[in-house]
Amino acid sequence: MSDPIQLGLVGLGTIARNQHLPSLEDVPALQLAAIASRHAGHETLPSYHDIDEMLAKEPGLQAVSLCTPPQGRFAQAAAAINAGKHVMLEKPPGASVSEVEGLARLAREKGVTLFATWHSREAAAVEEARELLAGARVKRATITWKEDVRHWHPGQEWIWQPGGLGVFDPGINALSILTRILPDPVHPVSAQLEVPENKQAPIAAKLEMETASGAPVAAEFDWRQTGPQTWDILVETDGPDVLLREGGAKLFVGGEPRISAEDREYRRLYARFAELIAAGESDVDLAPLQLVADAFLLGAQTRVEAFHDNP
Ligand code: NAP
Repeated sequence: MSDPIQLGLVGLGTIARNQHLPSLEDVPALQLAAIASRHAGHETLPSYHDIDEMLAKEPGLQAVSLCTPPQGRFAQAAAAINAGKHVMLEKPPGASVSEVEGLARLAREKGVTLFATWHSREAAAVEEARELLAGARVKRATITWKEDVRHWHPGQEWIWQPGGLGVFDPGINALSILTRILPDPVHPVSAQLEVPENKQAPIAAKLEMETASGAPVAAEFDWRQTGPQTWDILVETDGPDVLLREGGAKLFVGGEPRISAEDREYRRLYARFAELIAAGESDVDLAPLQLVADAFLLGAQTRVEAFHDNP
């Protein structure tokens, strides 16, 4: 077996601590070797203030994983690619579609791997849903993605700022699954965005879409849900209904439970990153981010009451 790929991680925040660090321990093809974060350091690994310092002081790094907010990711990714490193991007891959296209081109020129990850596509039931739908005629699809922003994103200001996507930050996970499992591409036809009067990004959104063969796809995203949280995608077909629940962890076919499995999303992402590097390939699918960008282009915005973390 070859030596593990030496990896630097940037942005030691919620997702880095909850998912990236424990998952990396289970993927032998990669070895976490350094961290860059302005306000946090790792207990045992060399830790630097920012990516530029990490790249300068750790020439042995071969790859970089960016766990920072999407705003500012372009400059970090470009610095890593220009230094000859393979790069893995958290979702959403950037604050705009065109900046990620620019990164993909830069990665090609430099001969390094760029992996724009969609962790929800790695949920346990997503591939089975895709296979079931491959031969089906889709009649209608419905996304219901409702969660409590105060629980999941306390104090995260970047998420409300331009490029932070607002409720589409979790909503893009649904769109990443949708664009993976449906046999046809989809495009939005209308959008309604509710933006709190003290914020710059939506707290709720309704998106009407259509598949290329004309089937309607309705999506409802809401960050004001307290109590039970809902991350469902229902696809009605000429055969049995296909229902993904809990963000793709559970699958019901014709109402019967088919799959329910533990979360291995980030382990799969890192294993795939190592495979892409070994194969000299990149994986940059911008369809989910394009749908969000289109929702902002088409969206009728309504101002709603101010939102405060601590009401
Ligand atoms: P977070 O808790 O705010 O952590 C991001 C880290 O990036 C911060 O701790 C911060 O560390 C660093 N950072 C660098 N520039 C920053 C800036 N301008 N503003 C704020 N932080 C900055 O965010 P997160 O929840 O981990 O999300 C990071 C990315 O992962 C996002 O793209 C998000 O969509 C994605 N993600 C999050 C979750 C989740 O449940 N939280 C799940 C899946 C994916 P320093 O201050 O130390 O530099």
